[in-house]
Amino acid sequence: MRRVVAAVRRVLVVPEPDLVHRSRTSLVVSVGTGLGVLALLLTPVVTVLPYAEATVVTLLAASALSFTAAAVARRGHLGIATVILIVQLLAVLVVPSVHGRDGSYSPLFMAVFVTIAGALVRARWVPVVLVAAIVEGVVLARALDWRLTAITPDQLAVYCVAIACVTALTAVVQRAAMDSALTSAVDQKVRAEELARHLADVNKDLESRVSARTEELEAALSRSHELAAQLRVLSRRDPLTGLNNRRALDEAMLHLAATPEPAGLAVAVLDIDDFKGVNDRFGHPVGDLVLREVARTLQTLSRSDDVVARVGGEEFVVAMPSTSAEDALALCERIRAGAAALDVGSRAPGLAVTVSIGVTHVDRPTDPEELVRVADRLLYLAKVSGKNRVVADGEQVRAAART
Ligand code: GH3
Ligand code: MG
Ligand code: MG
Repeated sequence: MRRVVAAVRRVLVVPEPDLVHRSRTSLVVSVGTGLGVLALLLTPVVTVLPYAEATVVTLLAASALSFTAAAVARRGHLGIATVILIVQLLAVLVVPSVHGRDGSYSPLFMAVFVTIAGALVRARWVPVVLVAAIVEGVVLARALDWRLTAITPDQLAVYCVAIACVTALTAVVQRAAMDSALTSAVDQKVRAEELARHLADVNKDLESRVSARTEELEAALSRSHELAAQLRVLSRRDPLTGLNNRRALDEAMLHLAATPEPAGLAVAVLDIDDFKGVNDRFGHPVGDLVLREVARTLQTLSRSDDVVARVGGEEFVVAMPSTSAEDALALCERIRAGAAALDVGSRAPGLAVTVSIGVTHVDRPTDPEELVRVADRLLYLAKVSGKNRVVADGEQVRAAART
């Protein structure tokens, strides 16, 4: 049933060009309808019915054929449409001749008016169609009155009004069906546009959220990299003096041992003399100050390649790569003298800071820990032999002026 309704709609409703359904089915339905109506005209209907009824049937058929022709024409089959219109003309001419009446003008008028009405309906001029239908009725009434004596003018008037009503009704139905098709198409378009806009908004929102979140993540990632780098630095630094701590020293020593230099490697261990007494006499803060001053002295006097570390309370290590034993000894002497020359000022009047240093040298370092142990033993010698001095390999005591 739905298919039948759809087929009838396709024949009756003339859609907007963009809504035209160019399927073969609609073409077949159109032609089929036309042929069906034609068959109705040319079969017993014409001969069985009285002339008046046959005329009405003919007019209805002519209307159907004109719409069919227009529908076929809209699908681009102008040849077929023309054939249908010619058949339509011939069909309406058959009625009077079968009945032996002289009606050659009246069918012609009918065909022309109905065709014009169909064309006007397609142009959506419904009021004009109504006027045309009425004019058609009047003209037909007059024409038949002049030529067909068997039909009274009253009957003709009724037929003509019937023709006008059918034509007008068809026009109204066509218009309503077309409007509903257009309205639903427009509604769909509007809904589709709204949906598209909504989707675009959602997409935009999503994109901005993703980009904001990405920025946040990137910032967090870069912050975490910074923190990791800071942590790495802090984990290798002595917080009081800013020097390397034991962990950093161990890593540096391993690296130095793995890359032997022609001049060899020297390691010095330094301990502040009688540091406990400094704390006891002047307090812990002054002790800290002395530690920082000794650290600064070490950094100032050592070279950029040297690794300076604080490894215990008041104990420091200096690793000197590419350094001969003589140069290392000379540097340790400068450090010892520099420490002795420290002046912590008014916070510790009368405080004289001295340090003892043990320094060792190897041409090819193999065991970094052993180097530190040897230097530590030499430091011990420096302590027991009077402090404020540097002791190098061979137990040579190089006493500095212990004034
Ligand atoms: P020696 O000449 O034999 O080295 O004697 P010393 O007094 O220097 O050595 P000792 O080992 O007896 O004393 C070291 C002192 O260093 C003990 C401790 O309170 C102090 N000390 C260790 N770490 C710190 C620190 O970070 N700050 C301060 N102010 N004192 C520290
Ligand atoms: Mg000490
Ligand atoms: Mg000590």
